[in-house]
Amino acid sequence: MNTNFLQTPITYLKGVGPNRAETLQGELGIHTYQDLLNLFPNRYLDKTQYYKISQLQRSSAEVQIVGKIIHLKSVEQKKGKRLVATFADDTGQMELIWFRGQKWIRENLKINTPYVIFGKCNWYSGGFSMPHPEMELLDQHQKGLKVFMQPIYPSTEKLSNRGITNRVISKLIQQLFLETKGNFIETLSETLIHELKLLPKSESLLNIHFPKNQELLAKAQFRLKFEELFFIQMQLIAKNIRHKQKIKGFNFDQVGERFKEFYEEHLPFELTNAQKRVIKEIRHDLGSNAQMNRLLQGDVGSGKTIVAVMTMLLAVDNGYQACLMAPTEILANQHYAGVSELLANMGVRCALLTGSVKKSARKPIHEQLENGELQLLIGTHALLEDKVKYKNLGLAIIDEQHRFGVAQRAKLWHKNEFPPHILVMTATPIPRTLAMSLYGDLDISVIDELPPGRKPVKTVHRFDSNRLKVFRFVRDEIKKGRQIYIVYPLIQESEALDYKDLMDGYESIARDFPLPDYRISIVHGKMKPADKDYEMDRFVRGETQIMVATTVIEVGVNVPNASVMIIESAERFGLSQLHQLRGRVGRGADQSFCILMTSHKLSSEAKTRLETMVRTHDGFEIAEVDLKLRGPGDIMGTQQSGVLNLKIADIVKDNAILKTARYHALQLFKQDPSLEKPEHLVIRHAYAQLVKYKNIWNYIS
Ligand code: ADP
Ligand code: MG
Repeated sequence: MNTNFLQTPITYLKGVGPNRAETLQGELGIHTYQDLLNLFPNRYLDKTQYYKISQLQRSSAEVQIVGKIIHLKSVEQKKGKRLVATFADDTGQMELIWFRGQKWIRENLKINTPYVIFGKCNWYSGGFSMPHPEMELLDQHQKGLKVFMQPIYPSTEKLSNRGITNRVISKLIQQLFLETKGNFIETLSETLIHELKLLPKSESLLNIHFPKNQELLAKAQFRLKFEELFFIQMQLIAKNIRHKQKIKGFNFDQVGERFKEFYEEHLPFELTNAQKRVIKEIRHDLGSNAQMNRLLQGDVGSGKTIVAVMTMLLAVDNGYQACLMAPTEILANQHYAGVSELLANMGVRCALLTGSVKKSARKPIHEQLENGELQLLIGTHALLEDKVKYKNLGLAIIDEQHRFGVAQRAKLWHKNEFPPHILVMTATPIPRTLAMSLYGDLDISVIDELPPGRKPVKTVHRFDSNRLKVFRFVRDEIKKGRQIYIVYPLIQESEALDYKDLMDGYESIARDFPLPDYRISIVHGKMKPADKDYEMDRFVRGETQIMVATTVIEVGVNVPNASVMIIESAERFGLSQLHQLRGRVGRGADQSFCILMTSHKLSSEAKTRLETMVRTHDGFEIAEVDLKLRGPGDIMGTQQSGVLNLKIADIVKDNAILKTARYHALQLFKQDPSLEKPEHLVIRHAYAQLVKYKNIWNYIS
């Protein structure tokens, strides 16, 4: 069947009138035959197995059982009558229950006659019961057409209200198979099919909708998941290649004076091997004539800043300007302070530009940027304002990328005739799996090693009832000269309440840690930037010992003397946030601690999060758990959620298939970059169709 036929509007399918078409479009996004064909079942009811009552599990899904009704009775309850049947096979007994249609059932059910029943089993006060079972006389069941695995399609309330039940969808798909004779064009090469022992396309589609047995279903699923991920990887890789070929970048071929001077004379410590490797990777990109688009991942405290600084020096050495953009003012200030210190006495001209820089101070910055006197600019979103014009921006570094949208990245890009090299730094470890599928178009560097001498932060979970002990511990730490963070959640939806909690908390802490022995800072989002900075600064300089804050301190802040991080209502934080917060301590030589405070009421998901934090420090492991708990959409937290719009594959569960798919997509481009070879014609054609009708970049950028 030719592919264009599958683009036929769904209204042409027998059984779909204008009303149904509209509902299918609105609810499931089904516009064409193709869309319907690619509506894959969420799950299947397995009717290949027959269970004995003695085999039933408490957590059973739907089961099919052969047995007889030996007794039928009506039971009166407060909420009304129900009909209860005792159902038995040769291994035991269970109950069947009806709340509706009791009269009809009573009149039609046959006692002591073999039935096949199907439904969901519940375990209730010592026995199994099945409400509203599907029932068929064994006799007829044996004569009837065999259904093996019954597909269950995605559904919505509107769909069922308008009579588009699972049965109806199944019928429509049958109709589609009739009209197309179940004959669909192959989309993968023979080599791939052979090498990976894949089911052919038509057979896969048949078995995904009408599986003949478990094995064929599994094969069909594998093939379709592979195919889906394979074509996504092809798009990502193709984009990356196009990028490298077409998008010329400034060529930084000089490793010049400043880089060398810094490396030899001003480097405050020996670089870790991971840092060295990453700098090499970056240098390679910068000297390759193509624009760099690199994502630098490194756990909190892994030392990304020094990499940024050295990369900026490469730009300066080659006569270009560079900018470093941070998501918050506090962080921008800290970067500015840090970079200025590192580059002191090197004669590199650097300025800070944030929302709170006064107008009068901005003007000279704008001017010096335009005439090239300024070499480095550090700041916040303010760097993206239209007024900010560079003489020759050669490099843009974006810290903590998860706070920036794709659109903002693009904006930086358009500040120039040529796009600057882009280095995106993130401390949110993106699991490889996700990085591969979402950022397959970026090159990725990882700092997977912490600077030497770091002691892992000791992490414990304590209930609110232990607060006195926790405070005693805090006092001891302060006595040793250490500083303490106490962080409160601040969630937008419950902002007012959260602020109240923060203020109540602050007051009680102030009572427990009174002046003049203790001094407390407080920082939260409602404060004026200047006040925030003032308080932050006092803490950084050690004038206050306790910092009470909301998550504004989550990102980047560096106070090596802080050794205790107390997180209040820790159950309300996400895993990556907890990990980020914990990263604020453990930056000095002393043993540090992270105390997760919660009430006794914890959901099982919250328990998993807390246990994970106590168990491991590995950001990537934490990110994997997070991904499993929340799904990819939430992790990215931005417009990227649901970006890939996967029909059948699951980025988390199908990780192994994803890797295989990426490997083969890479191989393909290596062997045949423009897909010219005859054996790749199939793929080329399918790919062209895909890009035409479902280009993933429509979603991403
Ligand atoms: P992050 O990756 O979280 O941005 P930073 O760049 O802020 O980490 O580095 C964290 C701390 O580790 C800083 O105090 C920095 O000076 C220090 N640091 C970075 N690299 C090294 C190294 N190779 N050896 C020792 N200390 C280092
Ligand atoms: Mg940092």
